[in-house]
Parts: sequence; C-alpha cells; structure tokens
Amino acid sequence: MRRVVVIGGGIAGVSAAAKLAPDARVTLLEREPALGYHSSGRSAAMFEENYGTPTTCDLNRASRLEHETRDVLSPRGMMIVAKAEDDAQFQSDLVTMGMDEIPVADAHRRVPILSPDITRAAIHEDAHDIDTDKLLNSFARDARASGATILTGHEVLGIERTDHWTIQTRDAAIEADVIVNAAGAWADGLAIMAGVRPIGLQPNRRSMARLPAPDGHDVRGWPMLFGPGESWYAKPDAGGWIVSPAEEHPVEPMDAWADDMVLAEGLDRYQGYVTSPVTRLETSWAGLRTFSPDRSLVIGQDPAISDFFWCAGQGGYGIQSAPAASDCLADLVMGRTPSLSPETVRGLSPMRFL
Ligand SMILES: Cc1cc2nc3c(=O)[nH]c(=O)nc-3n(C[C@H](O)[C@H](O)[C@H](O)COP(=O)(O)OP(=O)(O)OC[C@H]3O[C@@H](n4cnc5c(N)ncnc54)[C@H](O)[C@@H]3O)c2cc1C
Repeated sequence: MRRVVVIGGGIAGVSAAAKLAPDARVTLLEREPALGYHSSGRSAAMFEENYGTPTTCDLNRASRLEHETRDVLSPRGMMIVAKAEDDAQFQSDLVTMGMDEIPVADAHRRVPILSPDITRAAIHEDAHDIDTDKLLNSFARDARASGATILTGHEVLGIERTDHWTIQTRDAAIEADVIVNAAGAWADGLAIMAGVRPIGLQPNRRSMARLPAPDGHDVRGWPMLFGPGESWYAKPDAGGWIVSPAEEHPVEPMDAWADDMVLAEGLDRYQGYVTSPVTRLETSWAGLRTFSPDRSLVIGQDPAISDFFWCAGQGGYGIQSAPAASDCLADLVMGRTPSLSPETVRGLSPMRFL
C-alpha cells in the first residue's frame, strides 16, 4: 500500500484522509491540538449549491448526496433584501444565485425586523445549514476506521525528498510516497517547504459577530439574510443571531481575529436594512477564506512534482464542497478516473496555473 501523508486537519485534510484510507496507509498531521481549529471551525456553515465559481458549483452539486447520507443538512433558506438604490445589484444577485423574487410583505412576515425601506426581496428555499462538527467528526471517524493515523499537535517543520518524502515534525520523521497538501491558508508555504512552486493562494479575513436574538424574537425559523452584493449577511445561530460584514481583506496566513472597525462598519451596513438596533455583541471571531488566482479550488497533482497533490484554495466553499472535492482528490491520488466531468477536473487541476 502507498504511504500518504495528508498535511492539515481542517475539513479538506480530514475528508481527504477519509477517502484515501481504504486504499492507502494514511497519516494526517495537524499542527493545532484539535482538528478544525482554523477556517473549518469558523464558517457560516451553509450549503448553497449556487454559491461559487461554476467549477465550485459542480462540486457543491456532487456533494449533496453525501451530505444527506451523513445527515448533516437542515433546511434554512436564503433571502436577499434590497432598498431602492440597490436595484441593479439586486437584479444581478437574482440571476447569479438563481433566486426567486417574492413580495416584500412575505419577506417581512418571514423576518419581522426588516426595515420598511426594503423594496425588493428574493428567496432560495433550497439552502441548508451544515452541522460542520458532525461532518468533520464523521470524516475523522471514517478515516480512523479504515486505519488512518491522525496526529494533532504535529506541526510539519521540514520536508525532504529523496526517492520518497521525509516529513519532519518536532517529535517524528514520517516517510511517505505521496504528500497531500491540505494546509489551508498555509498551503503555499507548505509547498515551498517541499520544494514545490506555490500557486499564488491568497488568504482573506472574514469577521463575524454574534448578537442576542434581535428584539428577543425566536429566530430559529428565519432564513439566512444577505445584503445586496454580499455587502453583509446574517443568520440564526443556536438561538442567537450572527452578522458578518462579509469583508474580504487580504492577510498573511494567521490565527485570524475580528477587526473591530470592520465589524462596526459591517454592523452599520446591516443596521440600514433592519429595525432592530444592535446594542450588544456576545462574541466575535474571524476566519480565513483562501482563494486561488481564479477563485476555484485546487485539487490534483502538482505539474512538476508528481507525488505532491494539492487540496487547497477552498475559499468560502470548503465545507459544502468537501465530499466531492475529497472524492476527486482520492481518485487522482489512486490513479482512478474521477466521477466529475473531465472539464470540471481540468478546472480544478493545479495544471491550469502553469
Ligand atoms: C467567516 C467564514 C464563513 C464561511 N462560511 C462558509 C460556508 O457557509 N460554507 C462553506 O462551505 N464554507 C464556508 N467558509 C469556508 C470554509 O470554512 C473553508 O473553505 C474551509 O474551512 C477550508 O478548510 P481547510 O481544511 O482548507 O482549511 P483549515 O480549516 O484552515 O485547515 C487547514 C489546517 O492546516 C493546518 N496546518 C497548516 N500548516 C501546517 C503545518 N505546517 N503542519 C501541520 N498542520 C498545518 C492548520 O493548522 C489548519 O488546521 C467560511 C469561511 C469563513 C472564514
């Protein structure tokens, strides 16, 4: 059996380990003491098939059945609201997100805190919450059940290549035939460590604030709410209400934290669309959305180093696309033909950045 080391214990690495473990001797290395500590533990936890580049949407669609089988989806719905001055942006959102316009009175009935200045609203019912903990844990369970070793607290500090790879952590030197780079925001740095040309991945910070339920409403049945052009979003979260400025600020790979000023500006934008004042933040956090130069995921064999595989650039879609992305990655590592269309596989391949 080939020895595969997966670097990164977020959703990308853990799902890849689960799919590879039946056919390879898999070791997963994660720097932090727990899986899912970085982006994968800080997402908005949404499944929306129409969100992302066409290649990403192919992955989303192909992931749906596995999400259902793992029983991690629950209905949420997604609503866009707009004021008179947002008309052009609203129209374009309708098309890109495949949404249906609804009477504004219906929008008010569903979300009673909407401002009287809202002139248009659209809904996409087929959007779902993802139980991200359950998803990550089910992949980890599958990986272990098929014999994978998952080592947390193991930062990769050096990578050497002879006729095989030697991956150095503080406590171990692990030998492998294949490396899968699932290091999220750190994936380019990891490639450089291995002597592989980086892709040009860009981590972008996105902040979140958790507020008490607006005006004490029971928000559990409310849809996720978007400002026009993703200028902010809000959604119910365990009885509370999370609001994001939806910013995309380029940063170095890091343990991200929310920027107070960005948060305040975003909450102010959100506030323009609702009647309920923001009086108190329960908590705030931020995570990194790491994009490739064309904003599609990067899945497949490195163009120059054949035993180095990329599973990176998940951007804002890494949770919802994980089932199909990990299938594709495992098929390519094992020399099988992926079930995605050849065009989609080409659109994911690192070869496109040659
Ligand atoms: C605010 C926000 C909202 C989002 N909303 C959604 C959403 O609704 N739906 C959706 O599908 N996606 C969403 N996303 C995107 C999603 O969270 C990411 O695409 C996904 O989590 C990326 O997973 P990953 O495994 O690639 O990265 P990560 O989860 O960051 O995992 C990478 C791991 O690699 C480890 N690592 C790095 N270097 C080393 C090293 N040298 N040695 C060992 N380990 C290393 C890191 O410690 C890290 O744990 C959102 C993201 C954010 C920030």
